[in-house]
Amino acid sequence: MLRGSDLRVTRPRLAVLNAVYDHPHADTRSIIGAVRDGLGEVSHQAVYDVLHALTDAGLVRHIQPPGSVARYESRVGDNHHHIVCRSCGAITDVDCAVGTAPCMTASDDRGYAIDECEVVYRGLCPACSNAGAPDQPQ
Ligand SMILES: [Zn+2]
Ligand SMILES: [Zn+2]
Repeated sequence: MLRGSDLRVTRPRLAVLNAVYDHPHADTRSIIGAVRDGLGEVSHQAVYDVLHALTDAGLVRHIQPPGSVARYESRVGDNHHHIVCRSCGAITDVDCAVGTAPCMTASDDRGYAIDECEVVYRGLCPACSNAGAPDQPQ
Protein backbone atom coordinates (compact mmCIF):
# COMPACT_ATOMS: atom_id res chain seq x y z
CA MET A 1 0.00 0.00 0.00
CA LEU A 2 2.79 2.40 0.92
CA ARG A 3 4.64 1.70 -2.32
CA GLY A 4 1.42 2.14 -4.29
CA SER A 5 1.20 5.65 -2.85
CA ASP A 6 4.85 6.49 -3.57
CA LEU A 7 5.66 6.50 0.13
CA ARG A 8 8.94 5.02 1.20
CA VAL A 9 8.38 1.94 3.36
CA THR A 10 9.70 2.63 6.84
CA ARG A 11 9.18 0.78 10.08
CA PRO A 12 7.25 3.65 11.70
CA ARG A 13 4.97 3.95 8.67
CA LEU A 14 4.27 0.22 8.70
CA ALA A 15 3.67 0.25 12.45
CA VAL A 16 1.27 3.21 12.29
CA LEU A 17 -0.61 1.71 9.33
CA ASN A 18 -0.97 -1.59 11.20
CA ALA A 19 -2.16 0.21 14.32
CA VAL A 20 -4.87 2.04 12.37
CA TYR A 21 -6.00 -1.23 10.75
CA ASP A 22 -6.06 -3.04 14.09
CA HIS A 23 -7.82 -0.26 16.02
CA PRO A 24 -10.51 1.39 13.91
CA HIS A 25 -11.34 4.94 15.04
CA ALA A 26 -8.38 4.98 17.43
CA ASP A 27 -7.26 8.36 18.67
CA THR A 28 -3.66 9.49 18.39
CA ARG A 29 -2.86 8.47 21.96
CA SER A 30 -3.88 4.84 21.44
CA ILE A 31 -2.12 4.70 18.07
CA ILE A 32 1.08 5.90 19.75
CA GLY A 33 0.57 3.19 22.39
CA ALA A 34 0.10 0.47 19.78
CA VAL A 35 3.13 1.65 17.78
CA ARG A 36 5.29 1.65 20.92
CA ASP A 37 4.15 -1.88 21.76
CA GLY A 38 5.60 -2.99 18.45
CA LEU A 39 8.57 -0.70 17.91
CA GLY A 40 9.66 0.50 21.29
CA GLU A 41 10.16 4.20 21.92
CA VAL A 42 8.80 6.37 19.11
CA SER A 43 8.27 10.11 19.50
CA HIS A 44 4.79 11.62 19.41
CA GLN A 45 5.96 13.88 16.62
CA ALA A 46 7.10 10.94 14.51
CA VAL A 47 3.67 9.32 14.84
CA TYR A 48 1.88 12.60 14.06
CA ASP A 49 4.06 13.08 10.99
CA VAL A 50 3.34 9.56 9.75
CA LEU A 51 -0.40 9.96 10.35
CA HIS A 52 -0.38 13.16 8.31
CA ALA A 53 1.58 11.53 5.49
CA LEU A 54 -0.78 8.52 5.43
CA THR A 55 -3.84 10.78 5.53
CA ASP A 56 -2.50 12.97 2.72
CA ALA A 57 -1.80 9.84 0.67
CA GLY A 58 -5.39 8.67 1.23
CA LEU A 59 -4.33 5.48 3.01
CA VAL A 60 -6.07 6.40 6.25
CA ARG A 61 -8.99 8.66 6.98
CA HIS A 62 -8.99 11.31 9.64
CA ILE A 63 -12.30 11.89 11.39
CA GLN A 64 -13.18 14.21 14.21
CA PRO A 65 -16.75 13.95 15.43
CA PRO A 66 -17.85 17.11 17.24
CA GLY A 67 -16.69 16.93 20.84
CA SER A 68 -14.18 14.17 20.11
CA VAL A 69 -10.43 14.17 19.60
CA ALA A 70 -9.02 13.34 16.16
CA ARG A 71 -9.39 9.69 15.21
CA TYR A 72 -8.09 7.60 12.35
CA GLU A 73 -9.44 4.65 10.42
CA SER A 74 -8.44 2.44 7.52
CA ARG A 75 -11.81 2.47 5.79
CA VAL A 76 -11.30 5.21 3.21
CA GLY A 77 -12.99 6.58 0.13
CA ASP A 78 -16.56 5.36 0.68
CA ASN A 79 -18.07 8.41 2.37
CA HIS A 80 -19.37 6.27 5.24
CA HIS A 81 -20.66 7.90 8.38
CA HIS A 82 -20.40 7.25 12.09
CA ILE A 83 -22.68 6.66 15.04
CA VAL A 84 -21.27 8.00 18.28
CA CYS A 85 -22.57 6.74 21.63
CA ARG A 86 -23.58 9.68 23.74
CA SER A 87 -22.75 7.79 26.94
CA CYS A 88 -19.49 5.84 26.43
CA GLY A 89 -18.19 7.49 23.25
CA ALA A 90 -18.08 4.24 21.25
CA ILE A 91 -17.87 4.89 17.50
CA THR A 92 -19.39 2.58 14.89
CA ASP A 93 -19.31 2.75 11.11
CA VAL A 94 -22.60 3.16 9.32
CA ASP A 95 -22.93 3.04 5.57
CA CYS A 96 -24.18 6.08 3.79
CA ALA A 97 -27.88 6.77 4.10
CA VAL A 98 -29.99 4.73 1.64
CA GLY A 99 -29.84 5.75 -1.98
CA THR A 100 -26.79 6.99 -3.84
CA ALA A 101 -25.15 9.23 -1.31
CA PRO A 102 -28.18 11.53 -1.10
CA CYS A 103 -26.41 13.61 1.49
CA MET A 104 -23.94 14.71 -1.20
CA THR A 105 -26.74 16.59 -2.91
CA ALA A 106 -27.13 19.64 -0.76
CA SER A 107 -30.47 21.39 -0.98
CA ASP A 108 -28.50 24.47 -2.02
CA ASP A 109 -24.78 24.11 -2.82
CA ARG A 110 -24.28 27.89 -2.72
CA GLY A 111 -22.01 27.58 -5.75
CA TYR A 112 -19.51 25.23 -4.03
CA ALA A 113 -18.21 22.14 -5.82
CA ILE A 114 -19.04 19.73 -2.99
CA ASP A 115 -16.97 16.53 -2.93
CA GLU A 116 -17.30 15.37 0.66
CA CYS A 117 -19.81 15.42 3.44
CA GLU A 118 -19.80 14.14 6.95
CA VAL A 119 -22.76 12.97 8.97
CA VAL A 120 -22.57 12.03 12.64
CA TYR A 121 -25.43 10.08 14.16
CA ARG A 122 -25.68 10.18 17.95
CA GLY A 123 -27.43 7.94 20.40
CA LEU A 124 -26.75 5.15 22.87
CA CYS A 125 -24.77 2.04 21.89
CA PRO A 126 -26.36 -1.37 22.64
CA ALA A 127 -24.23 -1.88 25.75
CA CYS A 128 -25.22 1.48 27.16
CA SER A 129 -28.93 1.18 26.38
CA ASN A 130 -29.01 -2.34 27.86
CA ALA A 131 -27.36 -1.08 31.01
CA GLY A 132 -30.52 0.97 31.50
CA ALA A 133 -28.43 3.71 32.99
CA PRO A 134 -29.90 7.18 32.83
CA ASP A 135 -28.48 9.26 30.01
CA GLN A 136 -25.25 10.79 31.21
CA PRO A 137 -24.19 13.56 28.87
CA GLN A 138 -20.43 13.94 28.72
ZN1 LIG B 1 -22.07 3.36 24.84
ZN1 LIG C 1 -15.42 4.66 10.22
